[in-house]
Amino acid sequence: MRYDVVVIGAGPAGMAAAIAAYDEGATVLLLERNSELGGILPQCIHAGFGARRFKKDLPGPLYAYYFVQEIEKRSIDVWLESFVMDISPSRRVTVLSTRGYEEVEARSIVLAMGCRERTRSQLNIPGTHPAGVYTAGTVQRMINREGWMPGKRFVILGSGDIGMIMARRITLEGGEVVRVVEALPYLTGLRRNYVQCLQDFGIPLFLSHTVTRIDGYERVEGVEISPVDENFCADKSKSEWVACDTLLLSVGLIPENELSRRIGVVLDPVIGGPVVDQHGQTSVYGVFAAGNVVHIYDLVDDVSQDGENAGRSAARFARSLAGWQEPSLSVHWRAPIRSVVPQRVFLGEGSEKSLSFFLRVSTPCESSVTLRLKSEKRVFYEKRFPYARPAEMIHVHIEPSPVSHWLQYPPKSLVWEMDYDA
Ligand SMILES: Cc1cc2nc3c(=O)[nH]c(=O)nc-3n(C[C@H](O)[C@H](O)[C@H](O)COP(=O)(O)OP(=O)(O)OC[C@H]3O[C@@H](n4cnc5c(N)ncnc54)[C@H](O)[C@@H]3O)c2cc1C
Repeated sequence: MRYDVVVIGAGPAGMAAAIAAYDEGATVLLLERNSELGGILPQCIHAGFGARRFKKDLPGPLYAYYFVQEIEKRSIDVWLESFVMDISPSRRVTVLSTRGYEEVEARSIVLAMGCRERTRSQLNIPGTHPAGVYTAGTVQRMINREGWMPGKRFVILGSGDIGMIMARRITLEGGEVVRVVEALPYLTGLRRNYVQCLQDFGIPLFLSHTVTRIDGYERVEGVEISPVDENFCADKSKSEWVACDTLLLSVGLIPENELSRRIGVVLDPVIGGPVVDQHGQTSVYGVFAAGNVVHIYDLVDDVSQDGENAGRSAARFARSLAGWQEPSLSVHWRAPIRSVVPQRVFLGEGSEKSLSFFLRVSTPCESSVTLRLKSEKRVFYEKRFPYARPAEMIHVHIEPSPVSHWLQYPPKSLVWEMDYDA
């Protein structure tokens, strides 16, 4: 079997990529290991999705449904319960499904595998290994999809968005969240979720604290919580034992890049996703990437846009098969900026219109900051923001794109920097 574009993963990024590639004239196969389309969205039954795209405050399943409808209107081949095991350098995709192993040839590929949660084993929390330690996303699925309540009295470690949303959900379902504990001195999720999910429900947040021991034989009986200093060293003299039967971990998401690694895609060492250009093109010829597999987005609207961009570009690549990747410029950045996507700017066909960047800072800058993109001679973008916080991605849209200028006068360096009061 041969397709112009094969999309791996049918979350919002993959669905948008498949639709855009099809609309660009490509034959498209969408592969998903789950038994339904939508990725993480079907279990996110809270509102907060689609404010920009649909001008509505939608729950996750409805946001996904709008895209499923669009897929059904098109002749896009969708294989569910189909797990992609491998991709060869010549873009042969090995799929394991109920039919057995199959190989599909792709002229171009969009990686849209999303991300997964950090687990207890990645945190090395001392103590026993009883039942009752879950990641927040797993509990979200249990409660919202399976109808199970996994405990009565919860401690949540980590102030990420999923953890805070689950604190509210558990409370609404009759459980008790005794506290949310965060090792950093600031919140790692969005402020709106802190207000709507913790403050509104009277759930206490303990910043600069962590769980230093898990106790319990068959089931969690309690956890030890200790304050930590700026190097995350716990002060055990001030530890407190808190009775609970469930510990929820909301301690970060990791882009799911086993496949990307296997085909030699260069990954960003800080964020763990592929290094991409503004078309979602990775370092491997004909392989594109979009959504949480590249970096963890705050908003699904941005994920869908990213998917569309990568899908459209993958279809154009499949048509021409030449002239992509070079020339391109590397993008650099300085602290307190932690990450920038895209990390490269492609200086070829279709790059002149507009240019979008997503940036995150590594430390909270609570007074006004000035963000700037410059080369050695010229400033291409400059804007003041009232603050910059690690949990809140900064989206910069530059229109018209400076690419035409860079084609004429290629800069030696392209740097993002931020002025702020330390
Ligand atoms: C709890 C939670 C709350 C959120 N709340 C909001 C909110 O209020 N507002 C908002 O705008 N956004 C919110 N988001 C963010 C938004 O949902 C995500 O950014 C978005 O869903 C990411 O989409 P994705 O397509 O990149 O990944 P995913 O949705 O994770 O989809 C990836 C898909 O790839 C599949 N896959 C992976 N590997 C393979 C393989 N080898 N073979 C086949 N298939 C594979 C997976 O099964 C999955 O279906 C929330 C996210 C979470 C988790």
